[in-house]
Amino acid sequence: MSWILRVKEKFQAAHFLKNYKGKCERVHGHTFCVEVHVKVDKLNKTGIGIDFIEIKNTLNKILPDHELLNEIYDFNPSAENLARHFFQELKKIYPVKKVIVWESEEACAEYFED
Ligand SMILES: [Zn+2]
Repeated sequence: MSWILRVKEKFQAAHFLKNYKGKCERVHGHTFCVEVHVKVDKLNKTGIGIDFIEIKNTLNKILPDHELLNEIYDFNPSAENLARHFFQELKKIYPVKKVIVWESEEACAEYFED
């Protein structure tokens, strides 16, 4: 018996891509949406695995806000690398299965490890 809890949170930030030819090599911004999938195998007596609000609060502590991502991270801040970074941070706290980073309504990168 298991459940996947999914929580989404948005943040706004700027970035540019190194080693890239095209308009994304220039500084530009996104409203990123991060979706985290956490697996739980049991529920408390209320019927809750992990409180959505708790996951949301944790996510908000990890996510940047109005930053230039290239200045705060030592990796090229593509959606793929951001998804892996958030996964690694969240994995310290929850049994995370997947992290998805949406750069727009149409494009996202999913990171998972099994
Ligand atoms: Zn971009």
